[in-house]
Amino acid sequence: MTKIVLVGAAGRMGQALVRCAQQIEGVELVGAVEHAEHEALGRDVGTLAGLEPVGVVLSADLREALASADVIIDFTVHTAVPVNASLAAELGRAVVIGTTALDDTEQMLVQKAADKVPIVWAPNMSLGVNLLFAVSKRAASVLGPGYRVVLDETHHVHKLDAPSGTALRLGEKVAEGTGVRFEDVMVHDEGGRQESYPEGSIAIRSFREGEVVGDHTVSFENVGERIELTHHAYSRDAFAMGALHAAQWVCTHRPRLYDMQDVLGLRE
Ligand code: NAD
Repeated sequence: MTKIVLVGAAGRMGQALVRCAQQIEGVELVGAVEHAEHEALGRDVGTLAGLEPVGVVLSADLREALASADVIIDFTVHTAVPVNASLAAELGRAVVIGTTALDDTEQMLVQKAADKVPIVWAPNMSLGVNLLFAVSKRAASVLGPGYRVVLDETHHVHKLDAPSGTALRLGEKVAEGTGVRFEDVMVHDEGGRQESYPEGSIAIRSFREGEVVGDHTVSFENVGERIELTHHAYSRDAFAMGALHAAQWVCTHRPRLYDMQDVLGLRE
């Protein structure tokens, strides 16, 4: 049985994780943490997630919550991630990070924590998206640099970062496939306002609409044809299920920084 502490447990993903944790075998929710100012501290997280009580109350004390846990799952904000990962490393607990938009220093601190404990960090935990990463890289390597590549990402209006972490990772995979440096060719077009993009670029168009959970399309276009690879996430449960799967996996691996390609055996 994998004993899990959720950090950011009252958030949108936190609530999905509480619901999904009740549906699968082999995981036990032993703690749920929020920041110290959260209004729901002390309440049962099952009730917060729209279920019957699950016997775990929302707390602000991650150290105490980790005492009886194997792994933390972090869906918070980027600034909180290094703090949580460092504490997990100090206490020898594995980590799954779904939080996106970490800056270079925050990523370096996560990497440092991964010297001590196994960490899975992935901007998108869904099985389907991780398959899309692998398929997009393969498509790019077969089609070559002559094809124009556009990545469209659409998310709900509450999303803070753009482009999405998933779109950036997709762009990296396409760049790996065509053998170019992503940083050299990436163009970000917020709202898809530009009419065209420079030759050889990988353009990411970000759209924010209503409550869209997450849509990503990679299109490759050349004279007379276009190929589109699309993933639609209908519910946050797709990410929550992936994160719970990763939590079970990471506890059985040695200290290192992993991503979902490792968890799903998709790494080449
Ligand atoms: P949200 O705002 O609904 O939830 C975040 C929660 O974290 C909030 O409840 C907030 O109070 C809490 N929080 C903030 N600081 C904290 C701290 N120091 N300690 C504990 N809790 C703290 O956001 P969300 O939609 O649940 O997304 C959370 C993160 O996960 C974002 O970075 C988002 O981009 C990312 N995300 C990743 C995936 C994936 O598959 N990897 C999927 C969806 C969202």
